[in-house]
Amino acid sequence: VFDHLVRAPEDPILGVTVAYNKDPSPVKLNLGVGAYRTEVILYVLGLLHDQVKILYQCEFFSLILYVDIGRKPLVLNVVRRAEQMLVNDSSRVKEYLPIVGLSDFNKLSAKLILGADSPAVQENRVTTVQCLSGTGSLRVGAEFLARHYHQRTIYIPQPTWGNHPKVFSLAGLSVKTYRYYDPATRGLNFKGAIVLLHACAHNPTGVDPTLHQWEQIRQLMRSKALLPFFDSAYQMHSRLGFRKRWGECLVAQSYAKNMGLYGERVGALSIVCRSADVASRVESQLKLVIRPMYSNPPIHGASIVATILKDRSMFQEWTIELKAMADRIISMRQQLLMLYVVEYLQPLNHRALWSKVKCYHMQYVGSNLVKASGGANVGTPGDWSHIIKQIGMFTFTGLNSKQVAFMTKEYHIYMTSDGRISMAGLSLRTLPHLADAIHAAVTR
Ligand code: PMP
Repeated sequence: VFDHLVRAPEDPILGVTVAYNKDPSPVKLNLGVGAYRTEVILYVLGLLHDQVKILYQCEFFSLILYVDIGRKPLVLNVVRRAEQMLVNDSSRVKEYLPIVGLSDFNKLSAKLILGADSPAVQENRVTTVQCLSGTGSLRVGAEFLARHYHQRTIYIPQPTWGNHPKVFSLAGLSVKTYRYYDPATRGLNFKGAIVLLHACAHNPTGVDPTLHQWEQIRQLMRSKALLPFFDSAYQMHSRLGFRKRWGECLVAQSYAKNMGLYGERVGALSIVCRSADVASRVESQLKLVIRPMYSNPPIHGASIVATILKDRSMFQEWTIELKAMADRIISMRQQLLMLYVVEYLQPLNHRALWSKVKCYHMQYVGSNLVKASGGANVGTPGDWSHIIKQIGMFTFTGLNSKQVAFMTKEYHIYMTSDGRISMAGLSLRTLPHLADAIHAAVTR
């Protein structure tokens, strides 16, 4: 009965990994999906130039020995610890959660995203439901809006995460776009519409509004009675610019990237209302949305998050591990940029060491990285300083789809066709390969 079906195309983002998996090349590199990967530096020796001292806050070494362990996915220690505690707790059972999920998880998530001192939290004006990660939170929010909000139009930024348009249109909303990060955006005149805003670390551009710009957006939205729907997929990866005094709004949270719980599918939708009474009625309606979709959410991931968020020392440990991930990403940005502004020697294979060890000798010039990026670009035309100016997991390189196709074909580097690369997928070993590929794509 399904003989007539044509093959559907791969998902534009997840399909990058499918293509990558099929490629037999030993130098292939997957920069498509925004998932964190580890890197291990075995040891370093010698004397360094100033730039690198600044980078590593360290006095010595010029030879970096790097062990390629294949950039593994990372499970945070604090997550392992929380899971151990859950396993050891024999009082825990596997009963169904309520439709709205784990109550502790919901309360802690609302506090995490809105701030414990938020008047909305203190006055019980927020209703929070546990959903299937960020995507599920967006979808439940969209279904709720399609049923109960007087306006059916949602404006999403252009560009935005590739899944946004379908999440909203399949829920029954009419999707339109606004130009992101463009002063012209302030000329919005569609009264009452829903506006999707990335809460922080905008995907794919890595460009966030400044605090001052957030305030301008807030005022504009208020004056036009627009309803904000914040998508917070990268909380803690960068500063949360929104939060204060937005009034009624929706927030979709994900714990995929900030707690490394990708496959656990743990997230939350919060709706800030005008009163506790409205919030409880909203919750009753959210239950009607959720029940026929998946009945109730899974218990494990939400229990991990609740365990970590409610314990001060575990929370602290989480922020430290999160910072280590963010710092490695920032260091990848700095080093990728440096490959353009400094001379470097190609990787040498040191057969004296075992085959997986590669060795780089990098020579750096000058002492101020940002200054050097301004003009001292060797070889690759254009200003690449956006590599370090952008924030979050991705660099929106500015490479076009032809250049991306070239890099995939000739260099086996996989990324989305809009030129977005996941910095978390890079390592010292693979950076020169990427730099070479970009150089070749831009100068050919
Ligand atoms: N929103 C944005 C902007 C994202 O980048 C992502 C993940 N790439 C999501 C939502 C959803 O992520 P998840 O469902 O894995 O939590």
